[in-house]
Amino acid sequence: MEKLEMIYEGKAKRVYRTDSEDYLVIEYKDDATAFDGKKRGVIQNKGVLNNKISARFFQLLEQNDIETHFVKLLSDREMLVKAVKIIPIEVIVRNIAAGSLSKRLGLQEGTILKRTVLEFSYKNDELGDPMINHYHALAMELASEDELKQIEQIALKVNEVLKKFLAEKNIVLVDFKLEFGRHHDRILLADEISPDTCRFWDASTKEKLDKDRFRRDLGNVEEAYWEIYRRVCG
Ligand code: UDP
Repeated sequence: MEKLEMIYEGKAKRVYRTDSEDYLVIEYKDDATAFDGKKRGVIQNKGVLNNKISARFFQLLEQNDIETHFVKLLSDREMLVKAVKIIPIEVIVRNIAAGSLSKRLGLQEGTILKRTVLEFSYKNDELGDPMINHYHALAMELASEDELKQIEQIALKVNEVLKKFLAEKNIVLVDFKLEFGRHHDRILLADEISPDTCRFWDASTKEKLDKDRFRRDLGNVEEAYWEIYRRVCG
């Protein structure tokens, strides 16, 4: 498969066309942004670590019969993926209150939720990814009812598989964001699964091992990504 021209550059990744319409190359960058791009920085080696961490999670999910866009790692920073049309809905899965949920509902960070919470937001940078519900998604024709049902089922299954795997590595999966895409007539899990898109806490110390270290200027940002890499891929 030949890597051709770049077709999209996002905040953390570049996407390249290949000589096949069915495949793309994703390249992970070290650039980090937070708060709708208002905070910017670089986390050394983040691209390499997120590429490998995501690959490991996608492999694990595939082993558990969850279809993803992941095909294979190509290099330190690149993976080959199936080309999808991204559904413009971000799916947030929460096990423990943190971040915007804590603020919105006045729940102390760390409060264990009695059941898993799913949230949707409309993937639109200009609008700041506003939270939406099923009615909005259907009214705006972002996805069909059947697709929403599938997306929810897959998101909950991803949560169960990742939670169990991470617990064995002494990591608590607090919350995370997923994106899905259409590939021919299938819905595939797409985007990435990394410390950029998940909250990971050390199970013993509750130390944050994710992008919150960058968002909140907690220091040891790169070390946290390395630690997740070591536990997940080691
Ligand atoms: N998240 C993400 N991209 C976004 C928004 C959220 O990857 O654009 C992830 C975030 O890293 C966290 C979870 O989704 O693991 C829940 O984020 P939250 O809604 O609490 O927003 P935040 O506090 O990150 O603004």
